[in-house]
Order: sequence, then structure tokens, then C-alpha cells
Amino acid sequence: MKKLTISEKCIKCGECAVMTDLIRELPDGTVEPAVSVLTSEQAKSLEDVIKNCPVGAIVLNESNTGKFKSKKELLDYAQNKLGGYKFSEPQYERFNRSEFPIEIPYSRSGYDYKNSDKAEREGLREFNRIMYSQRDTIANDVIQRYASSKMRKFCVYEKENGNYYYDNYKAIETILQELAAAAIEFSNGKVKLPEDFTKFDIEPMWGRRGDSFDRSIYISELKEMGRYGGQVTGEMLDYVEKLDWYQTFVNWDDREIYTGKKYITMYNYNLREVCETLAEHILDGISSSIDCNLKDLINRCLSDTLKPAREALARKVSEFEKALGGTL
Ligand code: SF4
Repeated sequence: MKKLTISEKCIKCGECAVMTDLIRELPDGTVEPAVSVLTSEQAKSLEDVIKNCPVGAIVLNESNTGKFKSKKELLDYAQNKLGGYKFSEPQYERFNRSEFPIEIPYSRSGYDYKNSDKAEREGLREFNRIMYSQRDTIANDVIQRYASSKMRKFCVYEKENGNYYYDNYKAIETILQELAAAAIEFSNGKVKLPEDFTKFDIEPMWGRRGDSFDRSIYISELKEMGRYGGQVTGEMLDYVEKLDWYQTFVNWDDREIYTGKKYITMYNYNLREVCETLAEHILDGISSSIDCNLKDLINRCLSDTLKPAREALARKVSEFEKALGGTL
């Protein structure tokens, strides 16, 4: 058995994918093995394709597996690799606040106030109106942006590298191809596996509690994370102070204004600093909440969401055992 790889030398000319079904071209122009582990016959069919590659990027190496002395050894191997397949640990990104800025509303009054206390009080009232009273909405907007960009790979099944399901399914397909090639070599081509044996394209179980929602977008709990209802809003508020606390961040300025008869001192307010302070507090809460809860939340979701994939793996083991049992 041979292992097929495409090296980094590949210049994406696409020639090989035209010449054989064993290599496929992805939408971004890169090519990858459609079958990673080849039987001797498949490897032989690639000879011309390998010669034709202008940069020698198509590599065939001896596969480490495939030398099975008995049917039991092969079946044990299949059971171990498929039955014992461990889905990869989900890699989630810590919350990086610079990627999710909160828009700071512009608010600076005119020089309309006779003293600084009045300017400060009016500034605080305006701060409450334009931002403080909106803090839940602002936080939820950040959470939704985070969820739709960083959680997408766990929430949506997309056939592209980096998607949690696709990456795992590709790894499983490699094992299936390896087993299919091993069975063919071991049985001298006699084994008859189902035609789709090496395919693994199982839709995750999204609506695990029978919820009615858009199956194509979010799995249930991660969708809830978009709203981040109870959990995060509560924790987020721990970092947000009472309204009066922010008064010291309401800035004011004075100016001499000529009334037509004399100069008087008038005051304005500027809410830039107080709005930025609140934004930091909201982001502190979100950051802490995500770092504390997200890993558990994702693991909990995936343990159920991957149920059909695990069932499909068990079926593959049975199919493999049946095909081998019926042939040898
Ligand atoms: S023929 Fe070679 S260089 Fe061209 S796409 Fe295939 S592997 Fe890459």
C-alpha cells in the first residue's frame, strides 16, 4: 500500500486533478489526495500523473500499515481505528477584544451649561441614554459577532478545511481508505466492500432536543450562545458598575462666551472617556465569561451533536467485518 501526499512544492496548475480522480482540486485552486492510501493498482495508475507534475509535488511513500498476517489482525485494527476513533479536541480561540470593537457614540455638548456640576449631571444623563441603558444590547451584539465568526466551524457543517466536522470526517475517510486498501491487498482483490465505504459525510445532529430552528446555521446551545441569554449577560453585568460610578469619567470643558455685553464662563460635557470605560467593562465581562464557559459549552454540544457520526462509524466497522467475513 502507498500513501499519497501533495507536497508544498505544488504550484496549483491543476493538471493532476484533470488526469486522475485520485487527486481533487479544491475551490481555492489547491489540490489534495481524494484517496490518501492507495492499493498497488491505484498507485500504478498514478505513474503518468506523477511524471507529468512540473514540480514533482506528487509523492508516493510506502504506507506503514497494511501488512496484516491474519484476518483477525486486520479486523482488530479496523475496530481499533474506527470503533476507537476519537474526535479531535475542539480548538476554540480565546476572545480577542481588538477583533470585536464596540462602537463609541460621539457625544459632546455645546457650551450650554453655567457650571461644571450641571454639565457633568447632564452628561451622565446623556451617557445613560446613548450607551449605559443599551449595555445588554451592545454586549449581545459583540457576542453574536464572536459567535458567527469564531464559532462558525462548530455551528455549521461546511466542506472546507478548518471546519470541525469536515476535518474529522477527512481524517476518518483516510482511515477508511487505508482499511479498504488493506482489505483488497490482504484478500488479493476478492473482498467486496460497499461502494461508498470510503465516504464519510454525515450531517451532525443539530436539533438534539427537537428544537425548531434553522438546522443549517447553529446547533442549539451554540445558537443560544448567540443570544448568550442567562449565562453571559449575568456575568457580564458583574463588570459593569452602577450608573453613578461613571460620573467621574464624564469630562467637561469651559469657554469664555461673549453675550453681547460681557464675557461669561460656560461649560460643556464630553462623553468619549466614559463611553470607552463602559465598553472596556463590557468587554472584560464577555472575555472572562467566554474563557470560563466556552470550552465546556462546546464539549457538551459536540458530545450529542456527533452522535450520528459515531453511529456511522459503528456501521462502518460492521460493514468491514461483514465484507471480510463473507470473503475470507
Ligand atoms: S500537477 Fe503538480 S503542481 Fe500541478 S496541481 Fe498537481 S501537484 Fe500541483
